[in-house]
Amino acid sequence: MTGIYVHLPFCPYICPYCDFAKWPHKESAARRYLEALHSELDAASSADSEHTVFLGGGTPNTYAPAAIADLLARIGAKFPVSQPREVTIEVNPELVSASALEIYAAAGVSRLSIGVQSFVETEIRTLGRRHDAGQVRTAVAAARSAGIASVSLDLMFAVPGQTKESWRSSLETAIALGPDHVSAYGLTVEDGTSYADWRAREPAAFADQDLEGDLYDVAIDTLEKAGFEHYEISNFARPGHRCAHNANYWANGEYIGFGVGAASYRNGVRSTHTRDLAAYVAAASRGLKIPDQSERLEGAQRAGEAVMLALRTAQGLSFAAFKERYGLNFLEYYASIVEPYRAAGLLEVDAAGARLTRRGRFVANDICATFITLP
Ligand code: SF4
Repeated sequence: MTGIYVHLPFCPYICPYCDFAKWPHKESAARRYLEALHSELDAASSADSEHTVFLGGGTPNTYAPAAIADLLARIGAKFPVSQPREVTIEVNPELVSASALEIYAAAGVSRLSIGVQSFVETEIRTLGRRHDAGQVRTAVAAARSAGIASVSLDLMFAVPGQTKESWRSSLETAIALGPDHVSAYGLTVEDGTSYADWRAREPAAFADQDLEGDLYDVAIDTLEKAGFEHYEISNFARPGHRCAHNANYWANGEYIGFGVGAASYRNGVRSTHTRDLAAYVAAASRGLKIPDQSERLEGAQRAGEAVMLALRTAQGLSFAAFKERYGLNFLEYYASIVEPYRAAGLLEVDAAGARLTRRGRFVANDICATFITLP
């Protein structure tokens, strides 16, 4: 299976913590971008017969519903799929309407990912977002009426000012809406964002590691108690509602990214399009090669990448599958890394494979990085 990711980078406003490839929405720029994207799609191909589709952003629903439906038709014509396929669109709840969701559903959208972040008014404002809880409720109900099979809510913890109680209340409000899937991401303060300046001025406003760990625990306990399976570090699903597009990514499967800043992984080569919007539009609209950065992952690096991705998931890494794909005995090859993590209670190993413990999941990025950097 190949994942098709399409980046729609315009947003109604820019959030102060955001490090994605994004720009404030302007009609003319958004139109030119869409035309460039169509050209890039027209020139693409895939030998695979099975694809998932993910429209991410940015805020894809700054585009008119008809433009989204047209985009999906173009993708469907280019990348034939066996039914049923998973087609996800990320949306901002402020811009959702019942009629738009009906058009999405008719165009094949099967999964709606709503950027909620928090149900606590002060936290929503701290994040620079402008929606309210009522708009999220309306969006979930409209998605159900439109027949969209899977609804996911994105939430964020370690928001400045957030407490265990306020985070629990956001989670419980989310659960009460009956979503099929919840993503719970810890806030990451990236260099170059307004939040990085804020943290430099006022570090105490931000959660320390202890609080962040406690908030992560609250998320796992609350969501598991409500029947969600914690299937990946930041992702929780009701049975049958795991995100197939992301599952393919974590299984080190292939994906093709379209649009500015989009990443691809094909035939062992990882590449990322330029984040320069003008350069992307100029190249894509003329059918030229889009400036990118690429690297071929070979041998140990390729195996390390697979370990890093597999350890993000609840099932972890299968020794047999790893041996078959990379020709390596995991426990022997990574003995110097595995033993200390196992002794520290961060990694669990049995006859079939290895997976992170709950404590290990909280420091997953650090653990995974060591597998990638092993020479
Ligand atoms: S809506 Fe999302 S992509 Fe747009 S600025 Fe906010 S966080 Fe970034």
